[in-house]
Amino acid sequence: LVDARIERVAVVRDVARVTASIDHIALARDLAGAIENEELFLQYQPKVHVRRQEVTSVEALVRWQHPTRGLVLPGDFIPMAEESRDIVALTLWTIRRSIIDQKALADRGHDLRVFINIAGGLLADPGFVRQVCAIVIESDAKLGFEITETSVIRDPESAIANLKVFADIGVTIAIDDYGAGLSSLAYLKQLPARELKIDKLFITQLTSSNRDPLIVRSTIDLAHALDMEVVAEGVETAAAMALLSVMGCDMIQGFLISRPINIDALMRFLESGGHLPAASDLRMPFNR
Ligand code: C2E
Ligand code: MG
Ligand code: MG
Ligand code: MG
Repeated sequence: LVDARIERVAVVRDVARVTASIDHIALARDLAGAIENEELFLQYQPKVHVRRQEVTSVEALVRWQHPTRGLVLPGDFIPMAEESRDIVALTLWTIRRSIIDQKALADRGHDLRVFINIAGGLLADPGFVRQVCAIVIESDAKLGFEITETSVIRDPESAIANLKVFADIGVTIAIDDYGAGLSSLAYLKQLPARELKIDKLFITQLTSSNRDPLIVRSTIDLAHALDMEVVAEGVETAAAMALLSVMGCDMIQGFLISRPINIDALMRFLESGGHLPAASDLRMPFNR
């Protein structure tokens, strides 16, 4: 009887696995056309500078409005885009779209740097780097690239060299998801990064955990010693924000400030300032 049950569980699991991989293939096939069909769009999540009490930059996060599946989030299609190499076209599209939106923001008086997530494999791709440089230099837009240390590890020499090229043409480099992947102090020392983003893994339970505050505080001190600004991602509560501010964290990003939102909503957010957490919650006034 037990054997039969184990067998049945195994069959159900195999069916689930096959279904998932058929699904994966179908989605991967659709992705190739998604860029041409304009099914991708960007949402922006503000980063608030704590001392300057204003939004100084935003992060672009890609979404896929699939014709039959509805909204698909990047966690479900970026990995397959990396496998199929559609990531090159996707990222070039993201950069072009961000530049258009950055200019629209600047026209309305919002001088914000727009950060784009760059997948690891691209950092060692000379064709990609050349195209990006051409686009960035031509547009003269204020951009930033978020990269993970894990993505540098595959081919550190070319990745670091290419990041220096990006930094030289005025792109701000941020290290994303710091502490969650393969963090190496050797890379931290060599990367031309001006921002370090502490992974939300350490932030979402900041005020209820014993160790997270210690890790976060020493990471902030380390980044500052290396002349980098620190961003905390995944800030969901006023208590976390208050603690981060006391610890000297430079920037805050998270649902407390805003979820990722469409460009129109971002304009309204910047112009009303109304959604920023109340000053009394933060023990500091927001002037916007
Ligand atoms: P990421 O760059 O670390 O982005 C942060 C993720 O955390 C986003 O998820 C964001 O919606 C979510 N988040 C923001 N604030 C909070 C918070 O307060 N609490 C919690 N629990 N979550 C929060 P999203 O948009 O699903 O993106 C997931 C990942 O997909 C991103 O992680 C990034 O690595 C990747 N991604 C997004 N857009 C692109 C893109 O255009 N290109 C590439 N290569 N990767 C992208
Ligand atoms: Mg990011
Ligand atoms: Mg991150
Ligand atoms: Mg992440």
